[in-house]
Amino acid sequence: MSYDVIIAGAGFAGSTAARVLADAGKKVLILEKRNHIGGNAYDWMDENDVLRHEYGPHIFHTNSEKAIEFLSRFTDWYTYEHRVLGYIKGKLVPIPFNLTSIEKLFDEDKAEHLKQVLIASYGADHKIPILELRQNWDPEIRELADFIYENVFQYYTMKQWGLQVEEIDPAVTGRVPVLISYDDRYFQDSFQQMPSDGYTKLFERMLDHENIEVQLNVDIMDRMTVNPEEGTVYFDNEPFAGTVIYTGLLDHLLGYQLGDLPYRSLDFDVETKEGNFQPVATVNYPTPAETHPYTRITEYKKFMKNPPIMKTTIAVEYPMAYDRQGEKGNVPYYPIFNEASQKQYDAYADLVRKIPNIVPLGRLAEYKYFNMDAIVEHAIDVAEGLLGK
Ligand SMILES: Cc1cc2nc3c(=O)[nH]c(=O)nc-3n(C[C@H](O)[C@H](O)[C@H](O)COP(=O)(O)OP(=O)(O)OC[C@H]3O[C@@H](n4cnc5c(N)ncnc54)[C@H](O)[C@@H]3O)c2cc1C
Repeated sequence: MSYDVIIAGAGFAGSTAARVLADAGKKVLILEKRNHIGGNAYDWMDENDVLRHEYGPHIFHTNSEKAIEFLSRFTDWYTYEHRVLGYIKGKLVPIPFNLTSIEKLFDEDKAEHLKQVLIASYGADHKIPILELRQNWDPEIRELADFIYENVFQYYTMKQWGLQVEEIDPAVTGRVPVLISYDDRYFQDSFQQMPSDGYTKLFERMLDHENIEVQLNVDIMDRMTVNPEEGTVYFDNEPFAGTVIYTGLLDHLLGYQLGDLPYRSLDFDVETKEGNFQPVATVNYPTPAETHPYTRITEYKKFMKNPPIMKTTIAVEYPMAYDRQGEKGNVPYYPIFNEASQKQYDAYADLVRKIPNIVPLGRLAEYKYFNMDAIVEHAIDVAEGLLGK
């Protein structure tokens, strides 16, 4: 087959674009460096009959009709509303922090009083950013806000990003909401459903098309060379004039010539337990690292429609420094955003723009956090743009 489009990466970005282009008659080759499709949403049935999310818990939630319509071609769904508990002061309380959390953490009179003060100040059923609460004129609300800030966000953020207290920018953490309601769902989107047979099956169906060929275990940079000065792409030593959709890291694409883009990584300590481990799929540990060096524990079978009974699989999540050559921490999970990294990324992006047939797409290539629905929508738009739609 000769290809109109070569795509690096079989995650949501690459696979969605591939399918839209293939449906329009384009011949597409996908090269994926891992030994599986699905990108970070990859899941598989483990030895406990638990559908394990290899790269951390992935919960599908959206308000995007476009993403739902597209993905529903490849999967049925079942309802799953995510609930998270936080281990705070020795108790498990709903996160985001809400009126039930107050009831669980304070004695009855104090809790009643705090709830009344909050509702009087903001009204019921509102989401208030913690920063706003911390700036309230009422000292009681400020005291509560400081308690929430410290016990829900501060230590969690320190562990997540490897920061000291004074390095945390309250304006960034401050956007996280407190809910003045009893809604204990983690998300409030109108569509909260998981793919019936898991994400990997969804990807298999999406990529099952006569115009799509997938090759696993291939890093595109072992087959492709790019030259920004000449604006050229060579694939298998031949000039390639078709489109290359690249969903990997731009520093890798350009041989790290401007240095490594900074990332935060994770390590998952996976264990088998008997029966059930915890009341909900995810329990956060917003406690100091000295007490709990991890940020959260996920019990994967709680995402399943028909979970196994006897055994369960848990993953204890340890944030860590990213090291692309390390034995651990070699998966780039979260971009570390700051002025310097944005500048560095922009310099890489300027170089890539000199090569007209390379299209950077996705969370790595665009150095951005996208939820799954957002990247699906975006990849559809980019692919349709390439088709002149
Ligand atoms: C811990 C964690 C939890 C998350 N949870 C949720 C959630 O609950 N809900 C939600 O909506 N979103 C969640 N997300 C976001 C979700 O993972 C992303 O939206 C999604 O992965 C983006 O897809 P992508 O294709 O851009 O990237 P990826 O899924 O990372 O796919 C990129 C693919 O490209 C491949 N690749 C890279 N470089 C090369 C190369 N040189 N050659 C060949 N192949 C290459 C990679 O191996 C990978 O398979 C989470 C993200 C993280 C990090």
